[in-house]
Amino acid sequence: MTRNKSIRKEDLSEKREYHTQSTGIFFKVKNLLYKQNSPYQKIEVFENEYFGNVLLLDDLVQTTERDEFFYHEMLVHPSLITHPDPLDLLIIGGGDGGVLKETLKYHIKNVCLVEIDPHVIEVSKKYFPWLSPCLKDQRTELVIADGKKFIEKIDRKFDIILIDSSDPVGPSASLHQKRFYEKLKNCLNNEGIVVAQVGSPLYNSELIREKSASLKELYKIVSFYVIPVPTYPGGSWCFVYLSDNAHPLSIKRDPPLGLNYFNLETHRSAFSLPNFLKEKSE
Ligand code: SAM
Repeated sequence: MTRNKSIRKEDLSEKREYHTQSTGIFFKVKNLLYKQNSPYQKIEVFENEYFGNVLLLDDLVQTTERDEFFYHEMLVHPSLITHPDPLDLLIIGGGDGGVLKETLKYHIKNVCLVEIDPHVIEVSKKYFPWLSPCLKDQRTELVIADGKKFIEKIDRKFDIILIDSSDPVGPSASLHQKRFYEKLKNCLNNEGIVVAQVGSPLYNSELIREKSASLKELYKIVSFYVIPVPTYPGGSWCFVYLSDNAHPLSIKRDPPLGLNYFNLETHRSAFSLPNFLKEKSE
């Protein structure tokens, strides 16, 4: 998904993310906390009165302290409650640690987080309090690598693979291609599940249509689901649940207590798509 980057002169007291030439989101910047170019992308963190600390990569909102739970709970829990025995997990991307945080709420054996940019890890440890304890959890294995290269050379299989990539531009582009999903199958145990973020149902419905067609050639179950994400383009976001055996509505266990968004009703309803998206993804 190629959101339009800020197209106006930088106004340090405000951060704008354009979603089309005429629409977008803006934040008043209370404090600019970090702004550096890594070898992969521009990394910024600023404080906003309402959303708290906000992480931007190449000017695009990745996560905010206030609304992170919408996206992170809904990327993780649908697979963890429908896999028969989830022990070994892989997260590709996800350097802010929000997805990792949710996986560690289950009795899993190991979760391998593969993040290409060590600077995202270091910045997130400093400005997003949930990451450091998760990295100290002895079930967590942190690998700094390109997710595409990692799955091409790894001789391991996982029960669940979660793709928390940025938009299909820059380092993430390869994580949105069909051959990447083809290779993922070699890293999946029987009953394995892949879940990936696939962009905005409003602005990327064409991309979702294309993805649906190509993924149906690879996986028996290709189920899209949509959730609200206040700070993402269009205010909602789309994920895809992929498997040859598991089914998103065949629930094997209750979710952990204390979640802010996810429950069995929001889980089931997320898979009921609006007509405009059903047409694109069927
Ligand atoms: N929730 C966000 C979204 O939906 O756009 C994504 C958040 S997370 C910060 C995205 C992470 O993917 C970034 O830390 C980025 O460095 C990482 N990333 C991008 N391309 C990658 C690749 N090829 N392999 C591993 N990590 C990658």
